[in-house]
Amino acid sequence: MEGQDIEAQRRRLVVIGGGVAGSLLAKSLQFHADVTLIDPKEYFEIPWASLRAMVEPSFAERSVINHRDYFTNGRIVTSTAIDITETQVLTAQGRLIPYDFLVVATGHANYVPKSRTERLDQYKAEYQKINSARSILIVGGGPTGVELAGEIAVDFPDKAVTLVHNGSRLLEFIGPKASEKSLHWLKSKKVEVKLEQRVDSNSLSDESKTYQTSAGEIFRADCHFLCTGTPPGSAWLKETVLKNNLDKYGRLMVDENLRVKGRKNIFAIGDITDIREIKQGHLAQKHALVAAKNLKLLMTGGKESKMAIYEPRSVKAIVSLGRQDAVAQFPLTTIIGIVPGMIKSRDLFVGKTRKQMGLDPHVVHN
Ligand SMILES: Cc1cc2nc3c(=O)[nH]c(=O)nc-3n(C[C@H](O)[C@H](O)[C@H](O)COP(=O)(O)OP(=O)(O)OC[C@H]3O[C@@H](n4cnc5c(N)ncnc54)[C@H](O)[C@@H]3O)c2cc1C
Repeated sequence: MEGQDIEAQRRRLVVIGGGVAGSLLAKSLQFHADVTLIDPKEYFEIPWASLRAMVEPSFAERSVINHRDYFTNGRIVTSTAIDITETQVLTAQGRLIPYDFLVVATGHANYVPKSRTERLDQYKAEYQKINSARSILIVGGGPTGVELAGEIAVDFPDKAVTLVHNGSRLLEFIGPKASEKSLHWLKSKKVEVKLEQRVDSNSLSDESKTYQTSAGEIFRADCHFLCTGTPPGSAWLKETVLKNNLDKYGRLMVDENLRVKGRKNIFAIGDITDIREIKQGHLAQKHALVAAKNLKLLMTGGKESKMAIYEPRSVKAIVSLGRQDAVAQFPLTTIIGIVPGMIKSRDLFVGKTRKQMGLDPHVVHN
C-alpha cells in the first residue's frame, strides 16, 4: 500500500444511505479510508430490477445484495441517520459516529424490510398477489407504473390490467414521443390506460375490489399497486447543520465537485442532489465515482483546485416493456421495440451492476 493511502486510512469517512450512489461510493473507498456505511437495511438493492422481481421472485436473488458482500473492509451501521453536526452523525439507535468526511446519499424515502431474506419473501408475496388476481390496478404512469404494467402484461397476458395516471401522458419525465409509443405498446397488450384521472387513495383497499376514478369511471381490480413515486429522503435534514443547504424541493445544493455548497468536507450524491438532470441510477453511479475521486484527493492532501468536475448529463432513458421490448429516449431519437429491449430488458443491467460492485454477475453465494 502506498504511504499516502496509509495516511488516508486514518480519515474517517461516513456514508449515509446504502442505495445506488452510497453503496458504490463506500465500495470504492473501502481500502482508502476508515469507512462507515449507515443504512436502515442490511442490503443494497438494484431498484430497476424490482418490477421483474415482482413477476419472477428468484430474479431478486441477484439484485438484492447484502452490503457485506461488496463492502468487505468497512463498518456497517444498520440504522437511520437522524442528525448531523459539524463532526458527527447521530443514528436512530442513539449512536454517535464521528467523521472527517461525510457523504449524504439518502435518495428517496422508501420503506422496505431490514433483512435481505424479508425482502425476498416480500417479492414472493407480491408474486402470489399478482398470480392469484384476475384483475390488477396500477396507480401511476411514471417509469415504475409503466414498467410494472409491462412486466405483468407480458408474463400474465390473461390478467386484466388497468393503469390510472393523473397526468396527461405517461412517462412525463421524458419526451412526448416516448409517452405515445409506450401508450400504444401497452394498449397493444390490452392494458387499459386511464389518463388525467385519479383514484382516491383512501379508497385503495384490496378488499373493496371496485374502484371509481375522478372521472366517474367504475372498474374492478382484485389487487392494486401504488407506483406514484416517493419524496426525497431529506425530511430529517431540516433539523441538522445542513438545513440551509436544502432547496425548496428538499434537495441538497451541491457545487460542481459534488460538495454541499459552502462545505469543505461534506459531499452529496445521487437523487438527493439539486443537479439539473433527470434522477437516474446510472447518473447516481457517475456521481459516486466523481465524489470518490475527489474524496481520495482531499484525504491524501491533494489540492482542491485539482478536484474532478461533474458535468450534468442530457436526457437518456430506457424504460423496459416486459422481457424483450423497451422504449428509449436518446439525445437525437426515441425508439421502441426489441433494439432498446436488447440493451435493457433481458437482464435489466443486473449483471453489469453486480460486476461494478465487484461481484460475480451471475452466481450468488449465499
Ligand atoms: C422502480 C424503479 C425503477 C428505476 N429504473 C431505473 C432505470 O432503469 N435506470 C436508471 O438509471 N434509474 C432508474 N431508477 C432510478 C434510480 O433507481 C435512482 O435514480 C437511484 O436509485 C438513485 O440512487 P440514490 O443512491 O441517490 O438513492 P437510493 O437508491 O434511493 O438510495 C437511498 C438510500 O438511502 C437510504 N436512506 C434513506 N434515508 C436514510 C437515512 N436517514 N439514514 C440512512 N440511510 C437512509 C435508503 O435506505 C437507501 O438505501 C429507478 C427507480 C425505481 C424506484
